[in-house]
Amino acid sequence: MFTNTQQFAHDETSRKLLVSEHLFTLGFKREQDVVNVDGEGLKYCWAGSLSCLKGLLVIRISISDWNFICLPDVYIEPLNATWLTSLFPLPHIHPCTISVHGVEHYSLCYSLADANELPRSNPQKIINWVLNQAASIINHLSTNEKFRQLELLREIEPIWDSFYCYQAMRALITGNTLIESLHLTVRIENVPDKFIDIAPCHWICHDAQSGQTKEVKTETILVRVHSKKIPSLTWLFKTIGESQAQPYNRPTFEQFLKWLREWDKAAHYSLFQYIQAHWDQIQLRTLIFVCLRVDQALLPAIFFLPSSTSDGTVKAAKKDKYNEITMLIGQSINLNPNFVYSRNLTNMNMNNLSGLHIAIVGCGAIGGYLAGNIARLGAGTGDGALWLIDPDILGSHNIGRHFLGKNYIQKYKSEALKIELEQQLVGLNITAITGSVFSTYFPRLQEKLPKFDLIIDASGKMELSEALTEQWHKWLDQRPTMLHVWIQGNGECVQGLLVKHDTGMACRSCIRRSGFYNSEATLSPLGSNHETKHAFLACHDFTPYIVSASTSAASLATDMVMDWINSTPSPHYRTRYVERWHGHRVESQDVPTSINCPYCQLHSRAN
Ligand SMILES: [Zn+2]
Ligand SMILES: [Zn+2]
Repeated sequence: MFTNTQQFAHDETSRKLLVSEHLFTLGFKREQDVVNVDGEGLKYCWAGSLSCLKGLLVIRISISDWNFICLPDVYIEPLNATWLTSLFPLPHIHPCTISVHGVEHYSLCYSLADANELPRSNPQKIINWVLNQAASIINHLSTNEKFRQLELLREIEPIWDSFYCYQAMRALITGNTLIESLHLTVRIENVPDKFIDIAPCHWICHDAQSGQTKEVKTETILVRVHSKKIPSLTWLFKTIGESQAQPYNRPTFEQFLKWLREWDKAAHYSLFQYIQAHWDQIQLRTLIFVCLRVDQALLPAIFFLPSSTSDGTVKAAKKDKYNEITMLIGQSINLNPNFVYSRNLTNMNMNNLSGLHIAIVGCGAIGGYLAGNIARLGAGTGDGALWLIDPDILGSHNIGRHFLGKNYIQKYKSEALKIELEQQLVGLNITAITGSVFSTYFPRLQEKLPKFDLIIDASGKMELSEALTEQWHKWLDQRPTMLHVWIQGNGECVQGLLVKHDTGMACRSCIRRSGFYNSEATLSPLGSNHETKHAFLACHDFTPYIVSASTSAASLATDMVMDWINSTPSPHYRTRYVERWHGHRVESQDVPTSINCPYCQLHSRAN
């Protein structure tokens, strides 16, 4: 649609010049008196028309960042565009407006900011791309009903959010009559699948007295909406828009209920029934806190009961007078585990670690970061459990390469890690064992461990790994998958070994046996002549390596856990080197059980 000219710009002045010339040739005119919501003039703004399938659209392009780190803004003028505005509200077209000669414009979200690399040295190309994208999204929205519905569902939370901003903007324009709408955020930690649930939730509100925000914990009605066909939100959009002329013209509970009924009869029925049945308590509170959930999206709202008349006398709110109950839109912070732990796997067809029983043996330099990683992938959530096992106490000498910091010095590493993770994340079921994995002092340990899905040995101590292997071979009917992870030498490489029952793959002792056999040189990652540097501190020595070795080992183990749960465990024996290592290397590979392994051979004889 738009062609490129081959001129290159290497500084801001030339970019401005090229863009101005280019927009001029496309029929755009520079405009000076355009103001945004905050009343600021937009310095670089051009008006022109965009040719779309359903007609011409007057748009404004505004560039505020000439480094193009932020994309140019595109605004739609609603006059003479009923073919588009009659479909409002639409996904990607937001009511946070700019005003040109008193006409409010809508901002168009035509691309995700991070989705494209723009050719900065060729600003004409950027402008062409912006215009093509804008036309394409408008054509899709105006001609494809199915696309519109799908995008509305996908974008309902940002749309609700844009209404929230719009409402706050109205509050600013109309004075303080709607000032409480400036901050109205709910933090939701758990949304059950039931149609309706009452839970205490934290709301962050504007405090009229101090002018600051305050946090209140209050009963909130959580309503699950199953239908995915969201009805038009025009009523909401219009009422907020009109509130400029009449500050008290807010949307009502009646309108909200009507909309919900159109959307999902069952959800509407459960909310309606609840309000009716609990009216006596509700009217005492004078506020109703509601949050709808559709898919992963949360749509909060607060309803105000009319508690006083114009002369100041208090009157009881009448049941069924739902048109007297007014509504403010809220914003949400979604801490629902389902959302938090799945978001980064969206569209990757990957399972997360929710629902599994996982134990980490060793909460040191590797285990700490690893626990942080797998907890972020859902370990210890749902019906699952995450056990952290380590008898050690954190010292000041640890924190230079540990997940935990100075606040936890002189605390058990396992307990400190549990506290830290529970502070950072949501919905975790973590047990800290402040003893050895072989301890009989924790009776549940020896009884439960064999029934786990996965045991991760992050101890980095060969003796412990082998003792664990010995133990593992003794669990005859049930054996969890084992993952060993360790750092070689002074961090020249990190290694991981996944051991699954009855796969014929090597165990930790097959790879490196202790005692009466020599290790197989071919599997030794740094060759037989490599000498590891040690350091001595008081009465114990330690192996120096830097924190990147801990995080690298934790990353390797995280990848191996995710590959295991997503049925691609191979290669079972993996090695990652640092770039400075030029010596002997082993490839990541699947290693079969060794005929020299005392444990594997003992076990095969027993069968
Ligand atoms: Zn969008
Ligand atoms: Zn073995």
